[in-house]
Amino acid sequence: MSSKRDYYEVLGVARTATDDELKKAYRALARKLHPDVNREPDAEARFKDLSEAYEVLSNAQKRQIYDRHGHQGLRAGGGGGGPTGAEGFPFGDIGDILESFFGGGVPGGRPGATRGADLRTQLELTFEEAVFGCEKELELPRWENCLICDGSGAEPGKPPTRCTSCNGSGEVRRVQQSLFGQFVNVTPCDRCRGAGQVVTHRCVECNGRGSVRKTRRLTVTVPAGVDNEMEIRLNGQGEGGERGGPSGNLYVRLQVNPHPRLKRDGADIICELPLNVAQAALGAEVMIPTLAGDESFRVPAGTQHGHEFRLRDRGAPRLQRSGRGQLRVVTKVEVPTTLTEKQRALFTSLGETFAPPPAAGPPPTPDPVTDGETSAQSADTADGRKGKSRKGKGIIDKVRDALGIDGDD
Ligand SMILES: [Zn+2]
Ligand SMILES: [Zn+2]
Repeated sequence: MSSKRDYYEVLGVARTATDDELKKAYRALARKLHPDVNREPDAEARFKDLSEAYEVLSNAQKRQIYDRHGHQGLRAGGGGGGPTGAEGFPFGDIGDILESFFGGGVPGGRPGATRGADLRTQLELTFEEAVFGCEKELELPRWENCLICDGSGAEPGKPPTRCTSCNGSGEVRRVQQSLFGQFVNVTPCDRCRGAGQVVTHRCVECNGRGSVRKTRRLTVTVPAGVDNEMEIRLNGQGEGGERGGPSGNLYVRLQVNPHPRLKRDGADIICELPLNVAQAALGAEVMIPTLAGDESFRVPAGTQHGHEFRLRDRGAPRLQRSGRGQLRVVTKVEVPTTLTEKQRALFTSLGETFAPPPAAGPPPTPDPVTDGETSAQSADTADGRKGKSRKGKGIIDKVRDALGIDGDD
């Protein structure tokens, strides 16, 4: 592609040309080269080059890249990248301009070429596969361009003939008058359905459809740190386009199976650590589940229910970033519901060693299980003069207080 012509040369303008000068030059040349007007064999190719040049130079950012690095820079900088078919023929702003004097439709590629549909599929992953990333094979049935007829639908050696209704353009044009002047209304040709050609001998392989149903094996690279319900896009892996149009995309939705003992919270991994009353009070050496398997873990004496131990960098890798989340170990102190004779005796004598609770003062350290609820409630009632019956309005009351507004309802 080193033979690519300089964009300024294509448009016939100086490197210092203003946006207006570019637009003028483009319009003038487009009128001359548009394949609908110009029947010379290379008109279409030249028109494409022209459109591409204008698309780049009319965009300040792309123009800057081109000025500094030439064609190479644009290719590296990527206009989205990936195979888009028709050599990334530029759409966008140009369509608007063309519409104003050709009635829409950017010629390019074969007439009637359409982009293939997007496909969606699901991919099941284990908890670990999602955390660490993996490569997965996928079987995907889809329509692909027929290789025998190259998508034309015609038997090789018996090429399709030019449609006589539209004279091969695939479009039917009608000139209409309107308040704003004359304009051209374009509709796809009924006879050839926009293809511009009619197949006389159908391709045996695809029965004239131009595409064939294939089941493909694809390898999907799942990056580390993905989570349930996320979607991976594979450009150009959807249904094949018709008549040489680009393929659609494939969207793979991830379904991550739960782990028996670990949970995900973004990059954090959470595990529950059951402790009996003695372990919580005295401290203990216990086993905890981690991403690397079970590990021993030291619980200090006096550990409360619902306490969270945080182990840095022991969580899942952060998706598309460096570093890892935390491993959060949440304690669950289990009070026995049935006691043996011996345990009952021990608990009884244990109970006697604790001082009786103070008469009616504020409760001692609240039970952490209900901690959230009680504190929320007491926050409501502490200043909210109204107590439980007005519980739902607690926050509104507080905002009113903060803003100095009197309750008036
Ligand atoms: Zn075929
Ligand atoms: Zn036709």
